[in-house]
Amino acid sequence: MKQKKAIIIGSGIAGLAAAIRLKVQGYEVNVFEANEYPGGKLSSFCQGGYFFDAGPSLFTQPANVEELFLLANERIEDYFKYTSSEIACRYFFENGKKITAYTQKEKFSEELSLQLGEHPQAAIQYLSAAEKLYRNVGMIFLNFSLHKTATWVHKRVWKAFSTIRYSNLFSTLNRHNQFNFKTPEAVQIFNRFATYNGSNPYKAPGMLSVIPHLEQNEGTFYPYGGMISITNALYNLALKKGVQFHFNQAVNTIIHSNGRVSGIASNDVVYEADVVISNADVFHTYKYLLQDLTIANKIEKIERSSSALIFYWGIEKEFHDLGLHNILFSKNYQEEFDCLFNKKIIHSDPTIYINVTSKMEQGQAPEGAENWFVMINAPTSEGQDWPQIIAETRKNVIEKINRILKVDVEPFIKVEKIMDPIEIEKKTNTFKGSLYGTSSNSLFSAFFRPANFASKYKGLYFCGGTVHPGGGIPLCLKSAYIATELIKKDASK
Ligand code: FAD
Repeated sequence: MKQKKAIIIGSGIAGLAAAIRLKVQGYEVNVFEANEYPGGKLSSFCQGGYFFDAGPSLFTQPANVEELFLLANERIEDYFKYTSSEIACRYFFENGKKITAYTQKEKFSEELSLQLGEHPQAAIQYLSAAEKLYRNVGMIFLNFSLHKTATWVHKRVWKAFSTIRYSNLFSTLNRHNQFNFKTPEAVQIFNRFATYNGSNPYKAPGMLSVIPHLEQNEGTFYPYGGMISITNALYNLALKKGVQFHFNQAVNTIIHSNGRVSGIASNDVVYEADVVISNADVFHTYKYLLQDLTIANKIEKIERSSSALIFYWGIEKEFHDLGLHNILFSKNYQEEFDCLFNKKIIHSDPTIYINVTSKMEQGQAPEGAENWFVMINAPTSEGQDWPQIIAETRKNVIEKINRILKVDVEPFIKVEKIMDPIEIEKKTNTFKGSLYGTSSNSLFSAFFRPANFASKYKGLYFCGGTVHPGGGIPLCLKSAYIATELIKKDASK
């Protein structure tokens, strides 16, 4: 029998996972990538002896990566090594309070009780409820298409619904957290999880209280060599299995007729395929590759998730207060989100995330120095004056770091590179530079997120952060699973 052909547009983390999965299903797989490297947002660079992961810095649920190696019958240890971290994050507040978020829930709860006076059981109960929500509802959300009737008629869905609490559905995440914690610091810590899919905790539903389950119950992990090791591991696994990559080859068109796709065109050459998976932003795919303005306009109307402004700093000093992941919180979180989603600016007192991989292994920065990935939540790119926003934010960020860490940090910055939402958009064709596709700022957002298949174009599927189940490495890897399972099912019909 003739081997079936699959084409994947984009080698982001989901594109790589989909390529491996389809290869295991027996397809001939070709990946077309506009950049000269794989990984999309999950890329890296080195400057002045400092190593930087360009995009993601938090690694959760390594099981999603492990599963691909099991499936491909390869030993993960030959490609990828990682370790778990006892501390998920260090939180710093302007009032001088500091919280260490241990990945062990009893220890974390004790810390919140000791430092803030929270009830000793508060975080334990909250995280146990998050785990239950994850097991019941999360597993359906993460493993099935929400856009197929078959998902909804199964009895597990109704069982899952029966376990959802009123406040998960009909409160915002902020209100849900206020109900569970009495101190503003604990509420702010748990509100922050809305940013894991680029949403606003004052609008997003209490359902997002499931997110801390990944970090606080299952734990956080560090891939040796930095986050880029995840890209490298999957890329090498795909190569080993015989996936063919075409770098510097942007796809210009998805070819279709009579409601069925038959391949793609890149640099005026046509490549035929039985199935096409787009790992590119779903808006980009409909607008430019299919020129389907009706669907593109519909997607355009859905609110985007937030973007980011990143300062990559080589710091010629060691900071013993900092760990791998650190958050310096803003004083007025609600105002900060109002700036991000309504005013489309960065607040003058932004929450600052600092990731320092040199805390975990040597070689990430010169001796006695640290590689700081300093990220601020930013609005999507809407024609703002970015040079001015960057200059103001840089000043505000330095002042805040100086205040909280009691230091004069600027003289220690030896290396600097900046990435703004415009650059994020340019590097990966991501609409408006949003990090996680559409936002989850309403109860029904999950249903508005585009599907993993195109009903109008048979043979076309989607994976990646702009489609169901959403952005972030674990969800992107799940999107590859959902899309390739749909392909398997459709092929067997
Ligand atoms: P993308 O990474 O978006 O890649 C898509 C690929 O498609 C790109 O390589 C692009 O060049 C290619 N492409 C696009 N159009 C075409 C075309 N026409 N032809 C050919 N190729 C094309 N997630 C986490 O889990 N933890 C974090 O800590 C975290 N932090 C983040 C920080 C930053 C600064 C950013 C930017 C993102 C962060 N994320 C994080 C989100 C995470 O990086 C993304 O959700 C995920 O990497 C997206 O993967 P993807 O598969 O959707 O593809």
